[in-house]
Amino acid sequence: GIIFFYAVARIIIIIFALFVLLNNIVENNGYNIMTMAVDSTEKYDASLVKPVILGGGIAGLATAVALKNIAGISPIILEKSSLSSFQNVQVGGAVQFGPNGLKALRAIGGEALMQKCIQSGSIIKGNAMIFPGMPHKPTFFPDTTEEDNDGLPKVLVRWGIVRELLVQHLSPETTILTEAGGDVCGYEATKIERNIILLPKGTNESTIMDRDPANLIVSAEGVRSKFRYLVNHNKDRFGENEEDLTALINNDVKDSGRINLKAIVPRDLDDSFKPGYTYAYFAQNAGVACFAG
Ligand SMILES: Cc1cc2nc3c(=O)[nH]c(=O)nc-3n(C[C@H](O)[C@H](O)[C@H](O)COP(=O)(O)OP(=O)(O)OC[C@H]3O[C@@H](n4cnc5c(N)ncnc54)[C@H](O)[C@@H]3O)c2cc1C
Repeated sequence: GIIFFYAVARIIIIIFALFVLLNNIVENNGYNIMTMAVDSTEKYDASLVKPVILGGGIAGLATAVALKNIAGISPIILEKSSLSSFQNVQVGGAVQFGPNGLKALRAIGGEALMQKCIQSGSIIKGNAMIFPGMPHKPTFFPDTTEEDNDGLPKVLVRWGIVRELLVQHLSPETTILTEAGGDVCGYEATKIERNIILLPKGTNESTIMDRDPANLIVSAEGVRSKFRYLVNHNKDRFGENEEDLTALINNDVKDSGRINLKAIVPRDLDDSFKPGYTYAYFAQNAGVACFAG
C-alpha cells in the first residue's frame, strides 16, 4: 500500500513539475514575443521619429524622399532661401548623374523618379578636354557608361529640375518652410520626450520649431554647414563671443585651391562643338579649369 502511495505521489509530482515547466515555457514564449513586439515598436514606429532637415539642397531633399519611401517618416525641411528662389527651375548648374547616382534615385524614389530624371536631362556622349597650349585641339573621350552599366547612361540635368522632381516625390505630409533656419546657431535637448529645439542666434528659445518639435536633426546645409562645425568641435551651440560664424566655418572648409568656372550656355553652340560632349578647359598648372556644355 505504501509503495502504491509513493508511486502515485511521484506520478502526481512529475505531472505537476511537467505542468509548471510547460507553463513556464509557454509564459516565457509569450514574454519573449511580447518583448520582441515592444522592442520592434520602439525601434521601428515611424511616428516616434520626428526629423527636421536643415537645408533643401540635394542632400536634404534626397534624405526627405528616402525617409518617406523607405522608413515611412515625413520630415520638416527648413530652407533658408526664399520660396520663389526655391521654386525656380532655371536655377543652378547641371548635376551629373552617373549610373550609381541614377540607381540611388531609383532606390529612394522608385523607377519613376529615375526615369523622369533621365528624360529631363541630356545624355552625355563624351568629354572633350582642352589642355594648355592646345586651344583648338580638344582631346575627345567618348563615354562608355551606357554599354558598361546595363543601359544606364550618364546624364546632365539642371539642378532646378532635379530639385523640382525630388519635391514632387515627397509625401504631402512633408512640410517645407522657406526663409527658415538661416539663423539657427545651435540646438538644445528638452527634458520632455527628449525633443530637440533649434536655437536661433542670440536666444534660448526656438521660434522656428515651436509648433512641432523634432527629435532628430539632419544637417544638410551644404559645404558651410554650421552643424558640421558644432559636431566637429563637440559643441551644441555657438558661444556669445563667437560672433563671426562665417570666418569660423570657412576655417573648417577644405580648399583645394583650384578654381572651377562653370558655364551653362543658354544657346546653341557652333558646329565646332560636338553635341552631347562636355568641354573642359585647363589652364597651365591646372590652376583654373573651365567647364562648359
Ligand atoms: C561652382 C560649383 C560647381 C559644382 N559642380 C558640380 C557638378 O557638376 N556636379 C556635382 O555633382 N557637384 C558639383 N558641385 C558640388 C555640388 O554643388 C555640391 O556637392 C552639392 O550641391 C552639395 O549638396 P548639398 O545638399 O549638400 O548642399 P547645397 O547644395 O549647398 O544645399 C544646401 C542647402 O541648404 C540651405 N541652407 C544652408 N544653411 C541653412 C540653414 N542654416 N538653414 C536652412 N537652410 C540652409 C542652402 O540655402 C541650400 O539650399 C559644384 C559646386 C560648385 C560651387
